[in-house]
Order: sequence, then structure tokens, then C-alpha cells
Amino acid sequence: MIGADIGGTSIKLGIIDQAGAIWNKWSIQTNADSAAIITDLWATIQEKIDALNLSKADIMGIGAGAPGFVDSQSGYVYRTVNIDWKDMALAEELEELSGLPVYVANDANLAVLGENWKGAGNQAKNLMAITLGTGVGGGMIANGSILDGENGTAGEIGHMTVDPAGYRCNCGRRGCLETIASATGIVRQVMEKMDLNAETPLTKHYRRHNQVTAKHIFEFAEKGDTLCKETIKETASVLGLCLANAALTVNPGRILIGGGVAQAGDWFIQLINSAFQWYALDRIRSTCIVRKAQLGNDAGIIGAASFVKQQAEKLTF
Ligand SMILES: [Zn+2]
Repeated sequence: MIGADIGGTSIKLGIIDQAGAIWNKWSIQTNADSAAIITDLWATIQEKIDALNLSKADIMGIGAGAPGFVDSQSGYVYRTVNIDWKDMALAEELEELSGLPVYVANDANLAVLGENWKGAGNQAKNLMAITLGTGVGGGMIANGSILDGENGTAGEIGHMTVDPAGYRCNCGRRGCLETIASATGIVRQVMEKMDLNAETPLTKHYRRHNQVTAKHIFEFAEKGDTLCKETIKETASVLGLCLANAALTVNPGRILIGGGVAQAGDWFIQLINSAFQWYALDRIRSTCIVRKAQLGNDAGIIGAASFVKQQAEKLTF
């Protein structure tokens, strides 16, 4: 199977076997001319197949993740972010070009599928995942399948309202989880509370560099900085509360936390898990645990391949 993870700056690709092992992986730059991306994609796959002395008959299909709103059943892209695609039958067009079966879904949802197949998901039938990075992404698997919703918006936990009078979110509303638990949100919370006259390693750092990142905040927290520690604890608590509420929808066996902010340390994941266990309904938490995602950047291509396998098997039975 071919797995492709289409991003705004690069497209990651991989040849993945039935067991989920990556045979070969590579990447190409995303063409600034969005109309040319599909031809680029097939050209690089064809080149790789030739270079490895494979034939099209060896390939079960192509799975591709697109960054935006996608109908995973038809492979239709409603709208993407960072790439100028709108109302495009991506699966159909790539199928025509390649002569191979093509399955397309939202990139974050495919990453969740990948984590569930070969990562920290442990092949849970129901799973929830969030990515803590510049923004807060989310995805859900319900009864073994990606949950798209009516127009591709299901599982967007980052836009749960935490504070209706809170900060303006990228989505145009106020006080979404993303305004608190993203890297930007964590930095903003600390900046608001920081007393610049205080002599702490944090304030000294800020005065010297005129900026502080989420990574620094986690580092200072580990070194005992009270403000950083408190901010992270509060953030974990809000995350635990939102996850406990969201868990009522799919009753997940596992909740996975991924993205740059989740790399901070296991103690952060433990804090989120504790808050989740505290807020969640007994029957929800008795079968659910919060874990750190494992696959990093490979989750997308593994998930795309997993999606090919899953959809092809559906057709067989
Ligand atoms: Zn929002």
C-alpha cells in the first residue's frame, strides 16, 4: 500500500506492507501550484515503484491524507487549509491518473488511524485523539471507523468552548480549548501572569530573549518555576475536563495525546490523565486511559495505508 500525507509544505510518502511496516519512505515538496499536486503525487509514486522494481499489481491502493475537510467515504475534498483546494474529487482524479484504487481522508484523522493500528492506540474500536501544537487538532474513531460527521468537522475537540468570554480563536469564536491548550495558548497564559519585576529564571530568560516558547515553559516548570508549573497544571485540568466531556460521544478505549506540546514529558500526560479520570463518568473512565501518541511524523502515512486496507476489506466482504 502507498500512504501519502499531503501537507502545505511537503508531501510525505511511504510504501507500507500488510503488517503496517514501512518498507520505504520519502518526501517531496508541495507544489505551490495546487492544480499540479495530483500529477506530482502520481509521478513520484510511479518513479518509486519503478526504482524498487515493483509493478502496479503489487500495490493494493493509495491512501492519502489532505489537510482540511474531507468526506472519507467518497474521497471528496470540501476545502483544505494551506493548499488551495476546494470542492475537488481528489480520490476520483488520482484514481483516473494512476489506475489504482485511491482512498482519501482528513490528514489528522488518518494519523489517528495510524496510531490506532501501529502506535499507542492498541487497535481500540473506539478512540479519541488530540494533537497539541500551534493549534489543537482532534480526531475520533467510532466502531472502528473514522468519524467524519456531516461535513468533516466531527471530533474537532480543539474548538470546544471552555470560556464563552475568553480569547478570540482562529475559528472566529471565543474561548475555545485551542486558545488555552495550544503552544500559543500556554505561552499567552504565562505572559499574562508573569510579573516582569520578579527575579526568576523565567523572567530573566524573557528579559534576555524578549520571548518565551511553550518548550521553555515546560523546562522551567521541571526546574521548579511556580508560575510555569501552575499554568501547565491548569491547562492539563482544562484538557482533562474537555476530554471527559468529549468521551461521552464515542466512549473511547483510549485517548491519545500527540503533537509538539505532548513531547514535553510524561508528567504532562499523567496530569491530563489524572484530570480526565477525575472528571469522567465512572463507566467512561473504567475502560479508558490517556496515553501519549507514539508514531510522530509517520502516523500520517501509516494511517493512510491502514485506510486503504480497511476500505479494500470492506469492499471484499
Ligand atoms: Zn475555535
